[in-house]
Amino acid sequence: MNELDLYASLKKYFGFTQFKGLQEDVIRSILSDKNTFVIMPTGGGKSLCYQLPALMKEGTAIVVSPLIALMKNQVDALRSLSSEEGIAHVLNSSLNKTEVKKVKSDIVSGVTKLLYVAPESLTKEENVDFLNSVTISFVAIDEAHCISEWGHDFRPEYRNLRKIIQRIGDQIPIIGLTATATPKVQEDILKNLGIQDANTFKASFNRPNLYYEIRPKTKNVDTDITRFVKQNEGKSGIIYCLSRKRVEELAQTLQVNGVKAVPYHAGLDAKTRVKHQDMFLMEDADVVVATIAFGMGIDKPDVRFVVHNDIPKSIESYYQETGRAGRDGGEGHCLAFYSYKDIEKLEKFMSGKPVAEQEIGHALLQEVVAFAETSISRRKFILHYFGEEFDNETGEGGDMDDNMRHPKKKYEATDEAVTILKVIKDTNQQYKSKEVVNVLVGNVNALIKSHRTDTQPFFGVGSSQEPTYWMALLRQLLVAGYLRKDIETYGVIKLTEGGLNFLNAPSSFMMTEDHSYKEANDDTIVVNQKGSANAADQNLFALLKAERKKVADKLSLPPFVIFQDPSLEDMSLKYPISLEELSNVHGVGEGKAKKYGTSFVALIKQYVEEHDITRPDDFVVKSTGTNSALKLYIIQSVDRKLPLSDIADAKGLEMPEFIKEMEAIVYSGTKLNIDYWIDEVLDEDQQEEIHEYFLEAETDRIDEAMEEFDGDYDDEELRLYRIKFISQVAN
Ligand code: ADP
Ligand code: MG
Repeated sequence: MNELDLYASLKKYFGFTQFKGLQEDVIRSILSDKNTFVIMPTGGGKSLCYQLPALMKEGTAIVVSPLIALMKNQVDALRSLSSEEGIAHVLNSSLNKTEVKKVKSDIVSGVTKLLYVAPESLTKEENVDFLNSVTISFVAIDEAHCISEWGHDFRPEYRNLRKIIQRIGDQIPIIGLTATATPKVQEDILKNLGIQDANTFKASFNRPNLYYEIRPKTKNVDTDITRFVKQNEGKSGIIYCLSRKRVEELAQTLQVNGVKAVPYHAGLDAKTRVKHQDMFLMEDADVVVATIAFGMGIDKPDVRFVVHNDIPKSIESYYQETGRAGRDGGEGHCLAFYSYKDIEKLEKFMSGKPVAEQEIGHALLQEVVAFAETSISRRKFILHYFGEEFDNETGEGGDMDDNMRHPKKKYEATDEAVTILKVIKDTNQQYKSKEVVNVLVGNVNALIKSHRTDTQPFFGVGSSQEPTYWMALLRQLLVAGYLRKDIETYGVIKLTEGGLNFLNAPSSFMMTEDHSYKEANDDTIVVNQKGSANAADQNLFALLKAERKKVADKLSLPPFVIFQDPSLEDMSLKYPISLEELSNVHGVGEGKAKKYGTSFVALIKQYVEEHDITRPDDFVVKSTGTNSALKLYIIQSVDRKLPLSDIADAKGLEMPEFIKEMEAIVYSGTKLNIDYWIDEVLDEDQQEEIHEYFLEAETDRIDEAMEEFDGDYDDEELRLYRIKFISQVAN
């Protein structure tokens, strides 16, 4: 075949004049009847790699694909390229007898160039026999990662493909295609398809236009997501949640806040699902909140953000899902919320599964943890995971993640790196990372005992550092290529050639400190990571603090009685310029807005004008109101002077939770007169003493009050009195 034929066919069938990326090389390989393996990220143009040669070659190409819906789309698309309806067919269980007959006769007469089948249909004897009797040009296996348990979408039916193909014809070339493949998955694919000799074409997985960001997930995640979406108003976005319930909740919260959002999950009936999907595609909805049921085969080019409310269960899934952003090469913000609690939840889900599957799942999850907590280039991390080197100094998109934009400090860690490598070597490279760290810090457990590692001279050599430090360093040594994880053994750490060289002649090794995503303290709103897009306006925050001091001094009240810090932070984010808007700020109710708000909104208004700030005026994150009924109940019950313990009991709340509800009430400006209860627990002198304290204190923090009183009062007493205090002086 000559050059002209290839390009002429590309133009004739697809109307394109150029091949994309590696397409041409792949197609040449297929045209010369070689087994071929193609790894290209989503959107790379894999379909054309087998469609064009299928159209050019004699006989029918079989295309194995896991999803019936996708097959149908492809067949429709192919039919539109040709005047011949029979050029492409689907063969599956949904066809009736007449239809099957038509498919077969089209194949026999040579009209059909592509036959799409699900792996289940291929196993049917009658189909195998029929296909064996006709001319097959090649078999293409799309989404080939489904073959491997180490991929993100294992399908057991894919396992038998090799055998069936051999029965159809033992000389038929096999083409595997996939969008994600770690080195382990690649190996599985080649092995299971029996095509270790294949020409392999691997495109880079780098998506330079995607921006990766991880934020800690706190109880304020609703607010954080709503704000993010509001800041990206009008843009298309997908928000992934783990559970259907969460999808519904979050979609509702967004809707209440004026976002055109629709839910999507497998629990909705088919009609609603199609409707919501269409609304998203046609831009009648900006945002779809979905479980992972949404997205496969969704080809919207201008998705501008993908948010993960829950961290996915593997890097493959994360890559696949974030990959739906910015397909057109434009902006694509990938924001994931991470908390270790979610990891534990995912672990729990797996606990019912067979042991081997659990081990795999656990190993994949540990990679996700490492990715979230790392402070090195996220792009480098992802690409390393897929077996690709990436230089974040010179590589495309090198600065497109939170870690690179806001780098953490680097530390010289050459000696420590040597220590780890030595320990791994001296323990015969038999431990997984957790055990290596245990050996370093000197934690004994049964496994370590059984190897007698605890009697070795190096046991505990690293005890002056925290385990988290060693874990971080170990991960960075992995990414740097000095260590590798042995996948077959579920993650045993081995030295690489590079690691051995480093041990012989250590060169400087710099490490960066990992993020630590501590659980957010319940009393404080979490300030977003420094520099992230929606962090509070620090200049305004400083001005508001000064204003608060002024007002407090004038009234001889402690500043926190006026507004608490989280409220000021929220103001520096939402720029409220009327009392009504102010009353929607975190911790500020109507009463409080009226009483103290005037000078604050005036200040903000002036600030907004002077700095020409585009105010996100409908930024206020409204809740769907699940708590207001509870608050109302508490206010009414306190009015009736019911014992606090009874009120808590009636609502099934523990005392600390109940106190928290009351705090929220008084801090946002509603009076709660609990004197009748306080008088029971504290005598007059005690009350006076605490009152004096709060009046003079710098902050209203309970831990500081405890310290001041040196244990004279317990946490509960102080918190209850604080409620009385705030209620009296501030409201
Ligand atoms: P993948 O299966 O790798 O995710 P697809 O096969 O669905 O990708 O192709 C992605 C998009 O790229 C499609 O819209 C396709 O029409 C387009 N495309 C493929 N090859 C070319 C080409 N040579 N020139 C222009 N567009 C192409
Ligand atoms: Mg595809």
